[in-house]
Amino acid sequence: MSQENSFTALDVSRDVLKALERMGISEPTQIQQETIPPMMAGRDIIGIAPTGTGKTIAFGIPMLEYISLSETRIQELVLAPTRELAMQIVAELTELARFIPQIRIAALYGGQPMSRQITQLKRKPQIIVATPGRLLDMQNRGHVRLDQVHTMVIDEADEMLKMGFVKDVTRIIESVPPARQLVMFSATTNRDVMTISWKFQHTPIEITVEATAENRPQIKQYTMVVPRENKMGALQYLLDSDEYDRVMIFVNTKFMTQRVCDRLRKQGYKAEALHGDIRQSQRTRIMNDFKSGRFPILVATDVAARGIDVDDVEAVINYDLPNENEYYLHRIGRTGRARKHGVAFTMMTFQESVRMDEIQRYMESQPTPLKFDETRILRRENGDAFFEHV
Ligand code: ADP
Ligand code: MG
Repeated sequence: MSQENSFTALDVSRDVLKALERMGISEPTQIQQETIPPMMAGRDIIGIAPTGTGKTIAFGIPMLEYISLSETRIQELVLAPTRELAMQIVAELTELARFIPQIRIAALYGGQPMSRQITQLKRKPQIIVATPGRLLDMQNRGHVRLDQVHTMVIDEADEMLKMGFVKDVTRIIESVPPARQLVMFSATTNRDVMTISWKFQHTPIEITVEATAENRPQIKQYTMVVPRENKMGALQYLLDSDEYDRVMIFVNTKFMTQRVCDRLRKQGYKAEALHGDIRQSQRTRIMNDFKSGRFPILVATDVAARGIDVDDVEAVINYDLPNENEYYLHRIGRTGRARKHGVAFTMMTFQESVRMDEIQRYMESQPTPLKFDETRILRRENGDAFFEHV
């Protein structure tokens, strides 16, 4: 490891270095290299980087380095759009803070009784990770005071603002001291993200990590031209081509998640469907079971899978071509995380291949075409797929 690209060179303290080592993390990613120094220096930041590039640690480290351990007020606040994300951020911060036992983190999100969260607040946490709705609720009831917050992070800002949280986020920003540090992270920019930045950030530093295939050379991409009526057969063929412990299949509608999932189950596969209409508690259970390896195949829509961090997804299969170019990037970004090899297969009809060309121009990548041919067997080795004659 070169001295230039190490967490030590970024002035990270010994306790956090120890935690990183324990997490198996040795080299900072680009967004971490570029975010940690200015954020530790107290600057406002707007960071745009694709999913899976390590944004949590990018803001998590400066947050931990910047806490006054003796202070019992809430000093730092992270806003996340969903309960799942809030839980993931808490988990990652807790890991990072493993060797700083004085740090207390409270999580505030809907779908859990307030009483339990109020108990957490009574322990005087320095850090709060929250979804906007529950935080405002807690503030209104007088359980949370944010007048000592010096660092506020908005994670997945694009997603949060798309979900209609503009007013809530604005109210929360206005309730922390105006001199606070405001850091925003997002996979993409949009008008609302820029508006919040322009209104509330003080001479922010803009950090952009380009959404190109170069961020993630560990993902091998393959395309298959398959007539619509053969997609199910091709899907089974792909699933049978290897012993996958974790595969994500993406479709475009809630209806299709259920349909593909049901058909797979009929064929004896262990699969679950994840979409926006499933109850929150059920979604959490499905995600946890998928993470812990209780079932190998998750069929999901883009919305349901957004921001979900599951390591060790070995393959992503696009059963439908995504409707938006950036969705393709988010989808394949589910695999190849944490510097592991991943493979992504995209099934498309002949007509759809034009759309796929457009996606690839956006991605600046070149997938390998695979021919669906039942007389040959697909094999994978070290992330490469190739055909072998039967
Ligand atoms: P993002 O928020 O950009 O989508 P996450 O912060 O969720 O990405 O990180 C994705 C995964 O990569 C997590 O499992 C995280 O532990 C891991 N990770 C983060 N930083 C590094 C690093 N420097 N080296 C290896 N793995 C990392
Ligand atoms: Mg993230």
